[in-house]
Amino acid sequence: MSPSTPPWNFSAGPAALPAEVLAQAQQELTDWRGTGVSVMEVSHRGADFMAMAEEAEQDLRALLPVPASHAVLFLQGGATQHFAQLAMNLAAPGERADYVLTGHWSQKAAREAGHHVRVRVAGSSEDRGFRGLPERIEVDPQASYLHFTPNETIHGVEFHAWPDAGAVPLVADMSSDILSRPVDVARFGMIYAGAQKNIGPSGLVLVIIDRELLHRAGQPMADIFRYARHAEQQSMLNTPNTWGWYLAGLTFKWLLRQGGLDAMGERNRAKANALYAAIDASAGFYHNDIDTDARSRMNVPFRLHDPSLDPLFLDEATGAGLMALKGHRAVGGMRASIYNAMPMEGVQALIAFMGDFARRHG
Ligand SMILES: *Cc1c(COP(=O)(O)O)cnc(C)c1O
Repeated sequence: MSPSTPPWNFSAGPAALPAEVLAQAQQELTDWRGTGVSVMEVSHRGADFMAMAEEAEQDLRALLPVPASHAVLFLQGGATQHFAQLAMNLAAPGERADYVLTGHWSQKAAREAGHHVRVRVAGSSEDRGFRGLPERIEVDPQASYLHFTPNETIHGVEFHAWPDAGAVPLVADMSSDILSRPVDVARFGMIYAGAQKNIGPSGLVLVIIDRELLHRAGQPMADIFRYARHAEQQSMLNTPNTWGWYLAGLTFKWLLRQGGLDAMGERNRAKANALYAAIDASAGFYHNDIDTDARSRMNVPFRLHDPSLDPLFLDEATGAGLMALKGHRAVGGMRASIYNAMPMEGVQALIAFMGDFARRHG
């Protein structure tokens, strides 16, 4: 199987998937495991699907790894639904929760949770335009949990060490950094991630939750929102996103074949280092103004010294087979998202193009 080839897709999400995963899905599309039909067309309670689903969970458990203390759920609703749902599950009426604000997504997580819990800001870098991490994080020992966003997909800010929440459960939105490096899952009360950055198609959400937290009464809510009910039913309380679960399973196997998360972590570090080094060495033609100790390995935002060149840069980049480099409208400029599926070769192609563009327009 050949590696990925151009166009190199730098989309922030939904993002590129490994070429091998797509090729396997294509090959199996009309005849999955000799059934003569696709994986989308069989019962989620049938033996074939149940076996695949269990294998996907076991592969994920082996990858991260996930300890037995934590349940793995394959849910729906996007990370955004879980901004609210986690508050409903983890906090009783009137209780407080602590939030660390480091950019767009953590702000949104706090806002949505605020409909269900009394949100307190435990630390924020908003006063510095989210160009780094908060100087201090002060956790309320009475808080139901401490929520943070390890990687801010839009602002390009990443925690390289986890906040210390003491006995307060740590809750992390890992939508854009899950599986990009090893994680000590036991340190977390809950990890959740929308699939469309680093796992599979949108519509699937992974929730990894300490079983202790499943005993919390939370708030009055319908069964469909209760993590404990989903855990009791192995994520089959209702029909799961079967296609998403299947593709996630293929991606987990691909990651195991790559050597697991230690290998991916090294690769991702090397990719990001190469790109930041090129930006920093461009004598100001390009720049990234995030504190160097908080720069994201997954999403690299950068600006051109002259924003009037932006449309030409994007046009020529597309012509050179470099897709989706336009920055998020909230911050402007450019953004290269370099998740697991982006090989070093794609990053090198971007660096070569940026160098050439700077020589011709510098
Ligand atoms: C993309 C993203 C989200 C939003 O995910 P949806 O699936 O669209 O709800 C939330 N948090 C982070 C960190 C993201 O990158």
